[in-house]
Amino acid sequence: MIAFFVILFGLIIGSFLNVVIYRFPREESLAFPASHCPQCDHQIKPWENIPLVSYLFLRGKCSACKTSIALRYPLVEALTALVFFLTYLKFGLSLDLLVFALFGALLIAIALIDIDHLIIPDSMIIIGLIPGFYLWLSRPEQLLTPQFYGFVGLGFSFWAIRFMGEFFFKKEAMGLGDVKFAAMAGWVLGWDVGIVSMFLAFLTAALLFTIMIPMGLIDRKQQVPFGPFICLGIWLGLMWGWEIIDWYLTMFIGI
Ligand SMILES: [Zn+2]
Repeated sequence: MIAFFVILFGLIIGSFLNVVIYRFPREESLAFPASHCPQCDHQIKPWENIPLVSYLFLRGKCSACKTSIALRYPLVEALTALVFFLTYLKFGLSLDLLVFALFGALLIAIALIDIDHLIIPDSMIIIGLIPGFYLWLSRPEQLLTPQFYGFVGLGFSFWAIRFMGEFFFKKEAMGLGDVKFAAMAGWVLGWDVGIVSMFLAFLTAALLFTIMIPMGLIDRKQQVPFGPFICLGIWLGLMWGWEIIDWYLTMFIGI
């Protein structure tokens, strides 16, 4: 029953994320005007705006002009609901659930804005620092030091990659947004889980490129945003970072 409400809440937040992802980088108001069809300006009625359900009911088409609604909208809603559900399984019904589920939603917004516009908004990175403060205040037994090292260490590492890319290859290896975002990740996760997260980000990026380049899905010269991979890495680290560290230590070092 609780799980049902968590999923429902995730769907609603996911629906709001679609608005944020579209309007925020365009500096449009998040509240006004009401959502409308980009093709015919038909104002979307409340019953046409129910997450997932309306998409299925409208068969993926605007009720006025029958233009297809991008499949991405229901996918973002479903993904947000899934993130909320998994966060609930991990943290139970708690303040942690609220903070980390919304943090997951922020990561989804950042990933898609970076895919669309190749930017990571500074204001979103600043909002992303909040879970770090929350962890620091809610778990006084944990020291602040790992978070501080994470912030400086990951920020500096990414800046170094950026600097070396420009210095040796005369091209942007890493966007400035990615550098700030990595520092934020270190602040939230601490240096230990932070390193695991960034490793997962590079690993998933490398895996995807080895699949996508030969298939011709992306061009070698095309600028590909790294933000979405950082988002994935952060989220995996948040959920299973310590499990991964334990597994690694047992497996390879035998502790
Ligand atoms: Zn329309």
